[in-house]
Amino acid sequence: MEASSPTHPFDSPGPPEALKPETLRTARFINELQSFGVRLTAPGVGAPSRRGGAGPSDHKAVLIDGHAIMAPVHTAGAFDSPYVALTPDADGFSVVERAGVPVGRISFPARPRFYGLQTLDGVPYSQIATLHGRDVLATTVLQTCIRYESRKQTCQFCAIGQSLAAGRTIARKTPEQLGEVARAAVLLDGVKHMVMTTGTPNATDRGAQILCESAFGVKSAVDLPIQAQCEPPDTNAWFQRMRDSGVDALGMHLEVLTPSVRARIMPGKAKVGVARYFEAFAAAVEVFGRGQVSTYILAGLGDPAEVILEACGRLVAIGVYPFVVPFTPISGTPLEGQASPTPTFMESVLEPLGQMLVDAGLRSGDVKAGCARCGACSALSAYERPSHKSAAP
Ligand code: SF4
Repeated sequence: MEASSPTHPFDSPGPPEALKPETLRTARFINELQSFGVRLTAPGVGAPSRRGGAGPSDHKAVLIDGHAIMAPVHTAGAFDSPYVALTPDADGFSVVERAGVPVGRISFPARPRFYGLQTLDGVPYSQIATLHGRDVLATTVLQTCIRYESRKQTCQFCAIGQSLAAGRTIARKTPEQLGEVARAAVLLDGVKHMVMTTGTPNATDRGAQILCESAFGVKSAVDLPIQAQCEPPDTNAWFQRMRDSGVDALGMHLEVLTPSVRARIMPGKAKVGVARYFEAFAAAVEVFGRGQVSTYILAGLGDPAEVILEACGRLVAIGVYPFVVPFTPISGTPLEGQASPTPTFMESVLEPLGQMLVDAGLRSGDVKAGCARCGACSALSAYERPSHKSAAP
């Protein structure tokens, strides 16, 4: 983002100590883009955007001050966003305007070279894993889910079946395929870590087994830090098995916190209660280490800010990194018409949470792999920089 733009909206009213530090201004700009989305004058530039699939989607990776963030571009809200990214200049920078006024500058990670390759049996590498942010390889090892198959059980925000139905991915990525693609992504594109998520295949190991096999396949081919993501399995013994298979960090995603909201938004997944998550977190931290276990919390689905912060306090206290991201409605899901949280709401959560993480010594940059390390789906890591308070006049 342009540091010296005199017309930046965040240069106007408010307490100066909250607005002047460049890092806080950047964090607010990220909140704005993630809440409203951005319209692209040249949608084809940079790495291809992602539609459908597990987890956050309908985004495009953009770079702000060198930090990768995912900005919604295909959501209904993004089509009406006040933010427009103009065609990039010769150096690859795109001016972002709001109501015709330049407010910042972004650029785009390049299309990864490994997307040009395919396996011997003809599967494009891009159907096996994709680039997230700038240097993260991400895959859904199993693109089907017991929760998704029933209208009554499915998580209302999830689009895991969409990319499969559209032929943009394959249902099951074999350990050999994952190893082959990961090696190419490291060698050709400098990928630094890998995220492996999975649909939930059963009500017992809940994906831990397939993640073990997948991590082993990758580590046999290339030395790449891996985060695995699954629901808490039925027994904590899976944590050591995952660690022994090559998983370096683990994500078990609460998504939402209030019991009634959990039951409404994700009726199937809510059957594994919050208490079991906390028990699993404590056991997983013993295996993976403090700060190497994380959870995803989707802000904007009904949990009040105080509820999110109270849960984050409990998570931080046991060494779990709470990765709070703004909910983004994905086209074609039951929640496609639900608005994202406002930038003000996100700041009311992320600023105190950033301070909580700094105080506890749990930092995004210390996580070995995964969403907490990548950070592109939230402004949270920008609030972790201590300078955003200490740089105030
Ligand atoms: S935070 Fe996670 S889901 Fe978001 S871009 Fe990074 S790796 Fe992908």
